[in-house]
Order: sequence, then structure tokens, then C-alpha cells
Amino acid sequence: MSPHAHRLLTGRLVVATHNAGKLREMRDLLAPFGVDAVSAGELGLAEPPETGTTFRENAHIKAAAAAAATGLPAFADDSGLVVDALDGAPGIHSARWAGPDKDFARAMADIHEKLLERGATAPDARRAHFVSALCVAWPDGHREDFEARVDGILVWPPRGQLGFGYDPMFLPDGHSRTFGEMPAEEKHGLPPRGRGLSHRARAFLQLAEACLEQR
Ligand code: IMP
Repeated sequence: MSPHAHRLLTGRLVVATHNAGKLREMRDLLAPFGVDAVSAGELGLAEPPETGTTFRENAHIKAAAAAAATGLPAFADDSGLVVDALDGAPGIHSARWAGPDKDFARAMADIHEKLLERGATAPDARRAHFVSALCVAWPDGHREDFEARVDGILVWPPRGQLGFGYDPMFLPDGHSRTFGEMPAEEKHGLPPRGRGLSHRARAFLQLAEACLEQR
């Protein structure tokens, strides 16, 4: 095997998230590959401080901490919404903007208000993308990194009750429904059934190609 070959992921995997929405999506994505996913929340693992300055660094911090704590390969995602007219905010602070109560209605309204302050009313002035950085870290220090994005615009008022976080205000390019109006399968389903639309689905496709065995 060449030193640059990817490492295959088999057996048990710790999914290093305490976010129920993300865990549900990851379980759906991992199910076809026979990987037995157990969550950091279920194992009672502490959440390490996300001190990185990029999505990639934060994904690595979370995956490496869970791998070290469990002796199992661990998977982490760091993601967020990047708004062009807000110079990339909320970015890696996307979860934080919702505050301790995880009030995303408030966080979406904050974004909308800041866009209005900048006169960003036309769809073109409201461009944004979701980013997903994925990291698989093994207890021996090996790691695999993947990153992908999905582009779109931010609508107001928010539309739809599905999904989580900023989904109801995100309208992906080429679609007429926001992520909040899309069933899970449409948002993050993988080919052949889905189209791998979301940032997380796209990053996951890269991971699957590199590290998972099709069943
Ligand atoms: P973290 O990756 O746990 O630091 O948090 C990322 C935050 O970005 C989440 O809490 C959501 O607010 C937001 N986010 C990430 N991915 C999505 C998505 O697919 N839909 C809506 N919001 C998202």
C-alpha cells in the first residue's frame, strides 16, 4: 500500500457530535456501509472546546478527542453557514449565533437584519453557502479530511419545518424549495436514490469513496 492510500473504515465508529440533527443525518448516510455508529453523546464523552479557526481544524479537534477517549476510530463534522455579504459570518460560529437556547429563529432573524442593514435585499446580494468539513481520526493519529459546500441564497421569511438550524432560510441554487421544505432524502440522500445535494452529503460522498466499502 502506498503511504498516501486512504485507510478503510470498518466496524465500530464513534460519531463525535452532540447535535441530534447531525447525528440522524450521519446515521442515515453510514447505514448502507455496515458501519456501526455510536455517538459521543451516547458514550457520555465530553465536548472539547472548538478552538480552531477553520471548519477543518474544528472537525479534527472533535474527531481526535473522541478517538483518544475511546480507542476507536472517530468521525466528526464541523459545519456552518457562510454569508457572503456578512464577510463570511456566522461561519465557524454558526451554532454560537443561536445562543445557549439554540434559538435558530433568532439567529436567522439576526442574519436577515444584518443583511437589511447592508441593503442586501436582492437575491444576488444574499448569497451564502453551507460548508461541511469531515474528519475521521484513528487512535494512532492517522486522519482523513474532506470538505464540501452547497451554494444558495437566503430567503425571508424562513420557509418549512423540516431539517434543523438555518435550513428554513437556505434556498439551494437550482431549487424552488428551501432546505427546511425538503424531506431528508432530498436534502442529503446519496445517489442512486438521492442527488447528494447538501454540503454534508457531498463531503460524505468523498469520504465514502475514500474510506468506506460499498456493501
Ligand atoms: P457545529 O458544526 O456543531 O459547530 O455547528 C454548525 C452549526 O451550523 C449548526 O448548529 C447549524 O446551526 C449550522 N448548520 C450546519 N449544517 C447545517 C445544515 O445542514 N442545515 C442548517 N444548519 C446547519
